[in-house]
Amino acid sequence: MRGQWIFINRLQDISMDFTLSEDNRMIASSAREFAERELRERAPKMDQKEEFDETIVPRLAEVGFLGTLVGEQYGGTELGTLNNSIILEEIARVCASTAVTIAVHNSLVCAPIFENGTDEQKERFLPKLTSGEALGAYSVSEPDAGSDAGSMRLSATDDGDAFVLTGTKSWVTSASYAGVFLVFARSSKESKSRGITCFIVENGTPGFSVGKKEKKTGIRGSATCSLVFDGCRVSKKNVLGEPGKGFHLALRYLDSGRIGIGAQATGIAQACLEVATKYSQERQQFDRPISEFQLIQWKLAEMALQTSAARVLVQRAASLKDAGQPHAKEASMAKLFASRAANFCAKEGVQIHGGYGYIKEFDIERYFRDARITEIYEGTSQVQQLVISRHVLGKV
Ligand SMILES: Cc1cc2nc3c(=O)[nH]c(=O)nc-3n(C[C@H](O)[C@H](O)[C@H](O)COP(=O)(O)OP(=O)(O)OC[C@H]3O[C@@H](n4cnc5c(N)ncnc54)[C@H](O)[C@@H]3O)c2cc1C
Repeated sequence: MRGQWIFINRLQDISMDFTLSEDNRMIASSAREFAERELRERAPKMDQKEEFDETIVPRLAEVGFLGTLVGEQYGGTELGTLNNSIILEEIARVCASTAVTIAVHNSLVCAPIFENGTDEQKERFLPKLTSGEALGAYSVSEPDAGSDAGSMRLSATDDGDAFVLTGTKSWVTSASYAGVFLVFARSSKESKSRGITCFIVENGTPGFSVGKKEKKTGIRGSATCSLVFDGCRVSKKNVLGEPGKGFHLALRYLDSGRIGIGAQATGIAQACLEVATKYSQERQQFDRPISEFQLIQWKLAEMALQTSAARVLVQRAASLKDAGQPHAKEASMAKLFASRAANFCAKEGVQIHGGYGYIKEFDIERYFRDARITEIYEGTSQVQQLVISRHVLGKV
């Protein structure tokens, strides 16, 4: 009964936090219902087994969550960035691993192909992606090129009608079950960020293989692997955008990717708030529920504040993107704030649970581990501060 109360209360929150339309709220509500039905039981199992449950993919496709940024002619739902962020928040509230899988697929793979692909590329790859026949993965990072992604070394040598890729990439979300990879490689020795080309690489391409799977602290239901390119020939027909202009593409889509990770972080923060509220009303110490202690109330108030503020920043950045307005600074602000909020709420949530927050039977333990990555991937918090300060100082 109490769970139901939280459910209703939270949907009211959605409508009051930001000016959302009736359509936005309906999408939030159906994403909430989907996450509860399909992911509530799967999420802790995926975490325990350290495995993504691929049986969820056709279901995600069925409800249109794998085509939110793709036009209907390619099987997409073209719901836009705001709706995409609303869906991601609701999914992350239950399963952060599934949320990052969708976030990468939609913002970093489908959207770049839909907006920059040739007709042939769009017809070949988008229906597979929106139908869930293939999941998307995005590969910029390398062992020695993280925040300084422009220093990447994976080489792409021009060879007639193809480029030959040789080298290693690292940290690729969904790599072991993805079918379509956007891979960034150095096609000329021009200065750092110039000379990088973006390739669409299909799983099964000769010379391409998925390497080591990392053992992680959190989002353990999402695989993170290296990629190995051993003289892998990729047809020039698979170059996305112009050769040598790949880095601009990478940065542009990281802006929208950050809105997605901000939404993921907001969902984790919301989940922490909900379980901590419920626990504080049930747990009795000194002959009363711990929610009656002011120190606990202070924590809940701060968690609610941080979560709401994160949501507003995420939805503002998403709305700017949908309106075709500049949004790089706002996306970084949203990601920086929301990832801090997720970690704050996870830490306070564990504290409210006391010793029970430190054991695996309680969801807050998983949320605590899942929150940590949001301050690291798609640009660390320091990188977000660099982006924001460049805008503040007028250096962009
Ligand atoms: C689970 C997971 C999933 C990932 N998924 C993907 C993916 O799908 N695709 C992909 O391409 N990458 C992915 N990544 C990589 C991720 O984006 C990088 O880890 C991240 O960009 C940071 O790079 P790094 O780990 O090399 O850290 P580094 O860049 O080495 O940073 C180390 C520290 O130095 C700080 N630092 C670096 N430069 C500066 C500076 N100029 N000023 C101040 N501080 C600085 C950083 O903030 C950080 O605190 C993933 C990583 C993880 C852990």
